[in-house]
Amino acid sequence: MADSIFGRILRGEAPADVIYADELCIVIKDINPQAPVHLLVIPRRPISQLSTADPDDQALLGHLLLTARQVAAEQKLDDFRLVINNGRGAGQSVFHLHVHVLGGRRFSWPPG
Ligand code: 5GP
Repeated sequence: MADSIFGRILRGEAPADVIYADELCIVIKDINPQAPVHLLVIPRRPISQLSTADPDDQALLGHLLLTARQVAAEQKLDDFRLVINNGRGAGQSVFHLHVHVLGGRRFSWPPG
């Protein structure tokens, strides 16, 4: 897949506010937050988007959700929203899979 800003952040070539890291993923603060808490859970493995993830990524995908839950708890969020934009039409702008963790305000449904 093509390189992206998240690839450069993962390699330490671009700055980011990293709040968590392990062998499978990192969590950074979004540069353009859409809520008081807006974090991005980013796998180290360069998967461009959810629809191109492999069945072998099952454990990794589960790890991303559990990490999202963990950082939400660390941010003292009881209620939070997780978002994965898949494809440009769904709002994806960075083609390296990531889970948005949003919290600290009320969210409407359906999303815009
Ligand atoms: P997407 O639109 O692909 O679902 O989400 C990409 C997110 O990455 C956006 O919320 C955008 O603000 C964030 N973003 C883009 N470039 C950077 C960057 O250089 N640093 C950080 N921390 N976030 C970024």
